[in-house]
Amino acid sequence: MAIERTFSIIKPDATARNLTGAINALIEQSGLRIIAQRRVRITRAQAETFYAVHRARPFFGELVDFMISGPVVVQVLEGENAIAKYRDIMGATDPAKAAAGTIRKVHANSIGENSVHGSDAADTAANEIASFLPETTSSAKASCGGVRGFGASQPALRACRLIGY
Ligand code: GDP
Repeated sequence: MAIERTFSIIKPDATARNLTGAINALIEQSGLRIIAQRRVRITRAQAETFYAVHRARPFFGELVDFMISGPVVVQVLEGENAIAKYRDIMGATDPAKAAAGTIRKVHANSIGENSVHGSDAADTAANEIASFLPETTSSAKASCGGVRGFGASQPALRACRLIGY
């Protein structure tokens, strides 16, 4: 089976309740590796673009307001079959319908405040990772490879060292 990467968000309801570590423990226990993460506040424009597919749904405004209501933790997860595996351990969108032991069953407040996001397919995973953690993509790695040559500027070298390339 292929090693994949998927994109995860620990949502504001979970960061507000200090659940980042508890959720990360469930991710790591599943065998997925957290290869990058950053705690950020996303903008209204980012949230509207991220959930654009739901723009016509009645809960869209509420969803965007929720996603910008506090910090989130954006993550890249890696492992065998990572996209489907993370969807499995997240559990159903509505925690009332989620299987026992899943992140949403254990931690989510409601169908809206449901603690985590995970990409649903390979193309969305790639786009979401490139939007929120671009330094983990192969093009960032390639450009860091390029600046290692003689004559690269000190700031460029420092930036590449900081992100581990
Ligand atoms: P997911 O892939 O399991 O996250 O579910 P969807 O892509 O269907 O929905 C995206 C997000 O919209 C969910 O994770 C919820 O945060 C939110 N959402 C979905 N359905 C509802 C709803 O009926 N009410 C509210 N308030 N939010 C919802």
